[in-house]
Formats: sequence, C-alpha cells, structure tokens
Amino acid sequence: MKEIILKGIPAAAGIALGLAFILDKQEFIVPPRAIMEKEIPIEIARFEEALIKTREEILDIQKKMSTDFQGIHAQIFDAHLLVLEDRTLIEEVIKRIKEEKLSAEYIFFEVLKKYIKMFSNIEDEYLRERVGDINDVGRRILKNLMDENKLHELDHLSEEIVIVSHDLSPSDTASMYNKNILAFVTDIGGRTSHTAIMAKSLGVPAVVSLKDATLRINNQDHVIVDGRKGLVVINPTEETKMLYRNEQSRILAFRDQYQEIKDLPCETLDGRKVEILANLELPEEMPSVQKHGASGIGLYRTEYFYMNRVDLPSEEEQFEAYKRVAEAMAPFPVTIRTLDLGGDKFISSLQIPREMYPFLGWRAIRFCFARPDIFKTQLRAILRASGHGNIRLMYPMITGPGELRQANAILNEVKNKLREQNIAFNENIPIGIMVETPSAAMTADLLAKEAAFFSIGTNDLIQYTLAVDRVNEQTAHLYEPGHPSILRLIKNTIEAAHHANIKVGLCGEMCSEPVLAVILLGLNLDEFSMSPLNILQIKKLIRSVRWTDAQKLAEDVMKLSTGDEVEELSKARLNEWAPHIIGNERGS
Ligand code: PEP
Ligand code: MG
Repeated sequence: MKEIILKGIPAAAGIALGLAFILDKQEFIVPPRAIMEKEIPIEIARFEEALIKTREEILDIQKKMSTDFQGIHAQIFDAHLLVLEDRTLIEEVIKRIKEEKLSAEYIFFEVLKKYIKMFSNIEDEYLRERVGDINDVGRRILKNLMDENKLHELDHLSEEIVIVSHDLSPSDTASMYNKNILAFVTDIGGRTSHTAIMAKSLGVPAVVSLKDATLRINNQDHVIVDGRKGLVVINPTEETKMLYRNEQSRILAFRDQYQEIKDLPCETLDGRKVEILANLELPEEMPSVQKHGASGIGLYRTEYFYMNRVDLPSEEEQFEAYKRVAEAMAPFPVTIRTLDLGGDKFISSLQIPREMYPFLGWRAIRFCFARPDIFKTQLRAILRASGHGNIRLMYPMITGPGELRQANAILNEVKNKLREQNIAFNENIPIGIMVETPSAAMTADLLAKEAAFFSIGTNDLIQYTLAVDRVNEQTAHLYEPGHPSILRLIKNTIEAAHHANIKVGLCGEMCSEPVLAVILLGLNLDEFSMSPLNILQIKKLIRSVRWTDAQKLAEDVMKLSTGDEVEELSKARLNEWAPHIIGNERGS
C-alpha cells in the first residue's frame, strides 16, 4: 500500500504511531449483538420502555422551558415528540428485531441512520430540517437503550488507537480520558477549538482540519500523527516509521531533560520573576499539573464538570471537587472560572437552542445571568470551597464594568445568604475577570479599578478581534496571535492592570508558544497559564533569556505590520538567545 501524507493544522504536539479507528459521525458506535428467540419480547419491551422514558424526558424539558423562557423554545420539542410517535419507524424497528434477531439498540440505530439519510436527501427544506430533530431524539432513545458506559465501543477497545473523526465535541474528548487513545485526527476544527485544547490536556497529539481524513483513512489503517507539523501519514513505510520512532524518543528525552528545572524559580537571567500556572479541564489532570511544577491553576475550566452527564452537578459535588483541587494545590492559587458554556461547549443536561453565531450569542456570563439558579449554585460551591486552599474566582467573557458589577451583585447575594446561614468562606476571595473580548481590552483601565486581577483569554480575544471563528478550518490561516491588533490590545491590558496595581495573566494557547511567550514576557506579563505539558519548556525559555532583551523585542515587534513579521523577528532573536528552545519548538 502506498504511503499517503495528509496536511492539517497542528493542534496538540507530539508524535503517535498506531491503528486508525474511525469514529462514526453519529458519535454512537453500536455493535451488533445477536439475541435468542426467547429474548425477542424482552428486546421489544426494552425498546418500548426507552420510547416512554424519552417521551417523559422531553415533556420534562418542555415543561421547564415553558416556565423558564415563557414558552419561546418549548415548541422545538413538539417536533421531537412527533418523531417519537412515528408509527412507521417504531413498527419497522419491532419487525426487524423479530426478523433479524439482533439487539434493540442495534436495529434502532440502523433504522435511525436510514431515516436520517432519507430526510437529508429530501428536496423540501422544511422536511430536510427535521434531520436535526430525528438525530436529537434518536440519540436520546439510544442513550436510554444502552448503558451509558457502553455508548462508545471505545470503552471495550484493548488495543491503542488513533481516533479519526469528522468532528469531536469537547464533551466527547473529555469522555476519552484514560482510554487507549494515542491521538486525535479530525476533518474540521481549529487550533484553539476546545477539542484541540482537550487533546492537549489529555496529553495526546492532535491534528485538526484535515478536511477529508475520514474518507481517506480506513479503520485499522496504520497511521502516524505528527502533532507538531500537523501531518498524518497513512500506511507509512518501515523507513518512515523508523524515522518517527526516533523522533518520538528524542522528544521524550527532551521532556525528561526539562524535569530537572521543575523546582527552580521561573526567572529570567536578569532576575525578572514570573509565574507559570496550569490550565485545568479535568481533575484527572492534577498529577500532571503537579509533575510539571505548576505554581497554581491559572484557569480551571469548570464547564467540563457539567459535561457527559444527564443532570447538573449539585452544589455539594462542586464544593467537594473545588475543595480537593484547592487543597492539592495549596498554598498556590487556584483560579476557578465560572461556567463558560456555549460557543463550542454544550452540555447534555441543558437544551440550549442552536444559534446562528454561538460565539456571539448566549454564552458564558450571559448564560449565567439568564440562569441565576445554575450560576448561584456554582458561586455558593466556589465560595464555600474558598475557605480551603487559595481560591480566586474569575468571570468569563466580560465586556465591560457593567457586566462585572452585575456578576458581583449576584455574588454578593450569595455571600449574604451564606453569612445568614453562618457558612464560612473567604471574605477576601479575589474576584477577577477574563479579558477576552476587544471591548474588555479597550476598557481595561475601567475594569482594572473593579477587578482584583486580569487573565487575558487570547483564544477568544483573537477570534473576536480578527473576526475569525476559532473553530472554523476555512479561516484558520487568518487566526494570527501575533497580529498587531492583538499585541496592542494585550499591551493596553497589561499597562492598565499595572497602572491599577493588579496582576495580569494570560491563559490562551499563545502563551505556550515560545516565539510568542517571549514577547509576552517583554510586555511585562506577570503570569502565564497553559497546558501542564508545556510548562517546563516555557520555563526553560524564560530561564534562558534576559528580561531587558525581551522588552526590547516587544518594543521592536510593536513597530511591525503583520503577524508573520512579528513571529519571524521573534524567532530570529530566540535563535540567538535560546537555540535549544527553538530547535525543540512544539516538541513537547
Ligand atoms: C481563552 O479564550 O483564551 C480561554 C483561555 O478560554 P477558553 O479557551 O476556555 O475560551
Ligand atoms: Mg475564552
């Protein structure tokens, strides 16, 4: 077989060699399970029960929606109920269970796929749009038919595999923790999509935006994923395999080499001390956070707590989780960001209407303002946990002081209630904000008077400033962290923070890229927060350069006109100052 090389966008560094596993676009993999004659009535009964349970769930959601949203979105579910009552579909499933003697979930999945295909090809636009409804209800029925844990065949895989998928949602990726996954490869997506971020936090290489990987790769194909260069090699020759295996060992050796600086201070040759903290998505990452010597958690993306479950996490459950992380990190700080839902992150327990522009819509703090019940539960849990360890609280997607005050007003209500109930919390808990909208960066001077700290979220700041969707592969080449507009907004934010005597960190993906990190150092950033796996490389970089040189570089790049020019100049300087870092860029 011929070796084929596909080129995509590098999303998480590292190299993996393994067998491809094509994840079905429906996200469900339902293996056929033969049943005995006597089991037929049992399977039919299971199917009918799943229909009833799904109906109850939908009615429940519908009821909730009509009270919460004055019925605006409740009618979406009428269409779902109609799908559930479709006699043709139901009868076909029952008939095929009897005839083919295969499990209810398998037959239902087959029929569902047939329906979806049929509706997708219909000319009538209204009917074509019903595909979404059929898909949604179908997934619910499948969930009710199958044991959650068996939902993905992945759980049963014994060999190590490379997941190849059209797309992966952040919740899919989160559910793959501790499975035998070597790497991710997707047709779509951008470098700072949450799927890419999750791959990093799982410590596996990922290449996204390959466009047609799911068509060109077959199940069980040998593949090599090069997460530094964004390459996928299908059917590699023995020679290619050997080359990549050597490269893999070289990277591992570098990783180990950096271990020796783990407990050394993060300071430049001329004594400027900065902090490197970790971004945390799942509590399972804590060992990695500690192994890489993070001096705290700069961003705890709590929304993952809400994913892959049918209910919302209770106050108690959240309190326990936040407390555990805070205690494990103490005395270092843990920055808990309140729920940042929406955009490309959705949760199964809430039916959030699909929007035309989800990143500009009902997202993050806006969602929390609309659902004070969910917001207050989380705030109570964070406040209660603040009595343990060193917790800081941070709001996402703030656009100006008005929203910060609105969030704080809700926080104060929660604090008052806790006081009334004599429940302890840290009265001096620092309240900070993410600066991730151009609006926040432009009003940083005003916000700095009211926030205890800033954390610049460049993943979003870049997409909003350059008007480039962070998950869209078509525009990925326009996503430029070094663009003059971005550097100016960052500079403005850092200066405003320092003027008001508050600390400013940055937790977007750009601070783990050496050529950009050194500019941020020169712009006087106080804290860098990144995936634990990148910490030691950036620490090594910081320990290898002079702050005054970095400041001069920052001054020089400010005069340049394009992101490419900025990166080129920075790379050239780094080549002089710390060639070992540049040589190993993206190597960790
Ligand atoms: C960001 O926007 O830079 C950020 C760190 O938050 P998230 O990636 O979760 O949107
Ligand atoms: Mg963000």
